[in-house]
Amino acid sequence: MTDQSGTDRPVLTTSGGNPIADNQNSKSAGPRGPLLLEDYQLIEKLAHQNRERIPERVVHAKGWGAHGKLTITGDISRYTKAKVLQPGAETDLILRFSTVAGEAGAADAERDVRGFAIKFYTPEGNWDLVGNNTPVFFVRDPLKFPDFIHTQKRHPRTNLRSPTAMWDFWSLSPESLHQVTILMSDRGLPTDVRHINGYGSHTFALINDADERFWVKFHFKTLQGHRHWSNEEAGAVVGRTRESTQEDLFEAIEKGDFPLWKMQVQIMPEEDADKTPYNPFDLTKVWPHGDYPPIDIGILELNRNADNYFAEIEQLAMSPSNIVPGIGFSPDKMLQARVFSYADAHRHRIGTHYEALPVNAPRSPVHTYHKDGAMRFTPNNPNPAAYYEPNSFSGPVEDKRFAEPPLKISGDADRHNHREGNDDFGQPRALFTLFDAGQKERLFANIAAAMGNIPDEIEERQARLFDQVHPDYGAGVRRARVEYKGRNPSISAPTDQLLSDASA
Ligand code: NDP
Repeated sequence: MTDQSGTDRPVLTTSGGNPIADNQNSKSAGPRGPLLLEDYQLIEKLAHQNRERIPERVVHAKGWGAHGKLTITGDISRYTKAKVLQPGAETDLILRFSTVAGEAGAADAERDVRGFAIKFYTPEGNWDLVGNNTPVFFVRDPLKFPDFIHTQKRHPRTNLRSPTAMWDFWSLSPESLHQVTILMSDRGLPTDVRHINGYGSHTFALINDADERFWVKFHFKTLQGHRHWSNEEAGAVVGRTRESTQEDLFEAIEKGDFPLWKMQVQIMPEEDADKTPYNPFDLTKVWPHGDYPPIDIGILELNRNADNYFAEIEQLAMSPSNIVPGIGFSPDKMLQARVFSYADAHRHRIGTHYEALPVNAPRSPVHTYHKDGAMRFTPNNPNPAAYYEPNSFSGPVEDKRFAEPPLKISGDADRHNHREGNDDFGQPRALFTLFDAGQKERLFANIAAAMGNIPDEIEERQARLFDQVHPDYGAGVRRARVEYKGRNPSISAPTDQLLSDASA
């Protein structure tokens, strides 16, 4: 249908496809009269507006993303049969970066971990590698995760972020030291997401054609180099624009300056897992490169912006439960909880059939017996009589070729103390020792500032943890705190400590 003026602009319609004659004036009983309830055009517009938002993610609400591809240049076929990882494989992907704590409208230039979550559209279904720009995490037991996230979010009474809550939790959770050290280091405040590494963080499994299992860590090293801001620089940036990362990523891709990452794996023979001095399935630990050297296997490129941010980035739904033959899980407790939690979050946030949305749908065939539910629009199995399983009507069937080799596990089912026998200090020490003098000073200053006006006993409890990482670490933080309080005299008054949450 063409419009009245004879141009080929399409005629405006309702969402039911009915042509609209007037989109400027509501239907009313004259200029001074009230509106008519029958004005379905007005009602449809207002009703749609009321429904424009879906619940934002509880964590990782603020995000930026783009489409791209992964090209495998190395050969790890002896470790995995996954088609996405075979030499020469090229796989389309979409990558969503994010901050963790801020809401959907938060400023980009904040000190926070960055999400680095990739959906690979492989010929064997989607593979979602839902990682971060850090190789470790604050907790190792998922039972701690909701508590940890509460400390990063707003205080229930003040509705403000609370350094007291953060440092209280961290100082009572020594397993957080490794990630806290990374967060407070230069890399905790990147200028944008082209200049960060990505890490799968968890330990995963690779499984080869002979059904042998290897443990694996995935890394994506930025080829743009690392860039970060000081707190002061970031403050000035936020004053200028709250969308610095969106601007940087979108504009770089728009002008053809496509960001690249080198993909690496660290591979551990299955039986080594019992021998390493650290638990290789502990998300607060890395595998030292000296023990398990990174192997270059490919290049990840981002090369296309989303056409519709909401449809492709906001509704993008990743879950570690999307896994392909040749890649598997590990006993990492945090991974096991995320396998449940992410898909559950999307069912709540987007709806039952969220994986049928174009951005989430696999490029390979999908054959399930899921039935009905809100917004079901996918077709029946080719024979509609095959709507249950087992059936005699040529419906899809399981295929034992995709079975994983059994994982040997032993032990007594119990609530084992996850802190017992864990060295929470050695790996943060290795990182601290890597830092040059300038990096250490900035680490101390960043911690001193992030503590704000937390109560003395929490500050001291945390400083004692830093002492155990390295005496210079604890001493440096104590010194930086004295300097910080000297520059901000009002915060050392006892009343301010009582009000620490409110003024954070
Ligand atoms: P290596 O010297 O072989 O590796 C050091 C790693 O540290 C490099 O991957 C480097 O990343 C990374 N790094 C450098 N500065 C920072 C920073 N400010 N924040 C986070 N990472 C940084 O040592 P090891 O493998 O023996 O590990 C020593 C320590 O390095 C670990 O305890 C851990 O804290 C940290 N680390 C280790 C990783 C691993 O997988 N082994 C991964 C990341 C960090 P890049 O190559 O991009 O410069």
